[in-house]
Amino acid sequence: MEIKRIETDFLLIGSGLAALNFALRVCDKGRVLILTKKERTDATTNYAQGGIAAVFDKEDSPFRHKEDTVGAGAGLSNEEAVDIMVKEGPYLVKDLIDWGVQFTKGEDSKLELWKEGGHSRRRIVHAGDFTGREIEKGLISAIKSHSNIRIFEHHLAYELIVVDGSCYGAFALDVSTGEVIQVNSKLTFLATGGAGQVYQHTSNPSVATGDGVAMGYNVGCRIADMEFIQFHPTTLYIPEPQDKQFLISEAVRGEGARLLDQDGNRFMESVDSRKELAPRDIVARACDAVLKERGDNFVYLDISFKDGMEVKNKFPNIYRECKKHSIDITKEPIPVVPAAHYMCGGIYIDLDGRTDIKGLLAAGEVAFTGVHGANRLASNSLLETLVFSTRAANVALDWMVEGPIPKHLLLTHERRSTIEESILAVHTRKEIKQTMWDYVGIVRRDYLLNRALRRFELYREEIEDLYKNSHLSQDIIELRSLIIVAYLITQSALKRKESRGLHYNKDHSQMEDKFKKHTIIKRRNNGI
Ligand SMILES: Cc1cc2nc3c(=O)[nH]c(=O)nc-3n(C[C@H](O)[C@H](O)[C@H](O)COP(=O)(O)OP(=O)(O)OC[C@H]3O[C@@H](n4cnc5c(N)ncnc54)[C@H](O)[C@@H]3O)c2cc1C
Repeated sequence: MEIKRIETDFLLIGSGLAALNFALRVCDKGRVLILTKKERTDATTNYAQGGIAAVFDKEDSPFRHKEDTVGAGAGLSNEEAVDIMVKEGPYLVKDLIDWGVQFTKGEDSKLELWKEGGHSRRRIVHAGDFTGREIEKGLISAIKSHSNIRIFEHHLAYELIVVDGSCYGAFALDVSTGEVIQVNSKLTFLATGGAGQVYQHTSNPSVATGDGVAMGYNVGCRIADMEFIQFHPTTLYIPEPQDKQFLISEAVRGEGARLLDQDGNRFMESVDSRKELAPRDIVARACDAVLKERGDNFVYLDISFKDGMEVKNKFPNIYRECKKHSIDITKEPIPVVPAAHYMCGGIYIDLDGRTDIKGLLAAGEVAFTGVHGANRLASNSLLETLVFSTRAANVALDWMVEGPIPKHLLLTHERRSTIEESILAVHTRKEIKQTMWDYVGIVRRDYLLNRALRRFELYREEIEDLYKNSHLSQDIIELRSLIIVAYLITQSALKRKESRGLHYNKDHSQMEDKFKKHTIIKRRNNGI
């Protein structure tokens, strides 16, 4: 099979905030090619509702923002990285505005700042309750004016080209034609976002299958702190199976919404003095406990006792989405369920986005800077993505691989079509997601983690076999990513014999000083 070969200076994998921001900052220095799995706006960034945390209020300071962030991180935040993020963030938010992103302003024409759980001051810059969509829209239209930037939609990157410790680009599948392309680049930037799709219930879009972590892991990058998965307590429950659950943002609880079991009992009062405004992990665990004790599929979030007009005006997006499912949030409670939301761990990068492989940078949710420690504060992830993708762009030129691309890479990438792999892929994907939800979910136990690991070891072998011997397809590539990510999360969770931040293990319910360290996993030549 002949495969198409393309050359570029910068290869960017993904089209969320990390990639688009990076592209705009390097496009004057060379040719940029963006590969993205679906349409250009199919990114988690597009679904961010709340906003981006940055210090703009004169009552606020980077010091306070840092204190809040490190406080949430339960002893594991990298303070140097946090310091950089809170200080550089506000300047970079201004760049977004200069590129055309329109954030909501108050009557005084200054940025309107929301307050969210865990933040001691008002510092959430937002665009209504669809901040991510506005950021994507603004950056994508800014990109249009640069002829140096090309975007290939429906191109799924699946293997990085690494020779002698340096990265020369990636192989990708053109999902619409089934054709494989080889992209050779002087610099590759991984910006593939998170991996929420590894769980049965998730707020993440279908593109979030952890491909970047899997690709990085496969070529020997260190992967850190994968046990810290944030579960959002309130996503809309719909009885029919969904690719992703719609998020009912924190801000609704901020406005006084109450969590009720299906008999109408408010349960957060007996769990935490902050009630519904307790940190996400505590609220998610409480919902999980109610669901398990009662054998229910959902709990209720009720804001119907508030003024209907006010609710509609504050949450137009949430109102509309619920209405689509015949739920009027101004008149009735919303059925909600917790869901996997954010991955604090990822590919280990330094403060300038460098991975362990020369020529390979990473930033955004795929990467680990240590900013969030064991728990992420709301609205800090867009900020982290913005700050560290900017820093990566600033060092990009210094880190390019030089010289001709090693010859043997130009060889063909052969595949044989052997079995009805798509049935197998779909079936195994469901099993992984269910196992992750039941055994490696919000509340963990050693025996359940071990059970999951045994299953994943078997799946890994089977899937690797499928990957090597069958016709290359999106299903198979994503399945391979999901099993690697599932394995990494489970291994990391087993290594942490304590409870800290987002990782809660009933068999080790206390935080222990000896575990005040990161969990790092690296692939050996022929296995984990
Ligand atoms: C519902 C929801 C609400 C959120 N709200 C907020 C919020 O208010 N504030 C906040 O700070 N954070 C929020 N977050 C988290 C935040 O949105 C993400 O962490 C952030 O947008 C990540 O940006 P990114 O650029 O790293 O990745 P993404 O925006 O996810 O982009 C990843 C890109 O990579 C592409 N891709 C993936 N794999 C491949 C592949 N193999 N080949 C080619 N392309 C690939 C995807 O298609 C996508 O374009 C929210 C998350 C969710 C799910």
